[in-house]
Amino acid sequence: MIFLSHILSSIFILKVLHYASPSEFPVNIYSIALSIFFAILPDVDFFMSDKLHSHRKTMFHAPLSFIILFLAGFLANYLFDLFPFWILYLFIAQAAFHLISDIITARSCGIYVFYPFSEKEYSLFHLEKYYGDFHPMRIASKEYRRFWKHYLKNKILLGFELFVIVAGIISLFA
Ligand SMILES: [Zn+2]
Repeated sequence: MIFLSHILSSIFILKVLHYASPSEFPVNIYSIALSIFFAILPDVDFFMSDKLHSHRKTMFHAPLSFIILFLAGFLANYLFDLFPFWILYLFIAQAAFHLISDIITARSCGIYVFYPFSEKEYSLFHLEKYYGDFHPMRIASKEYRRFWKHYLKNKILLGFELFVIVAGIISLFA
């Protein structure tokens, strides 16, 4: 999923939570900033990986990390009342949407759902490692352009990205 979609989808998720439970989830600059931060947090591993096709093989894209952080945060907050609980729910919702989106849109690197216990990758579409055989930060390379040409050839993915972008923009004003 493209970076912009992750950012816009985070606002969409926040608005969905807000409409589902207005008294629990506020919409303000603080909750928007947290949403964006939580939604892009897994992609920190871009800076730690040599190749795009395996950049998610870290604890940053492992569901287990988010479950542990959520449970630890929940327990700490239950005992010491550190912050409002909606922050934790927002955290787990944004992380879950990020990981599910990555499974849907994975083209060269899937999600290692059971990492670190298993290195099996999960993805909706067949993975083609060849297209992700370059450093993830080399965004001015021909390999990068080749990856995106391959990515956007898939009309379902193109539709999904457009849907998330439009939903995100609408939710900015809704
Ligand atoms: Zn990701």
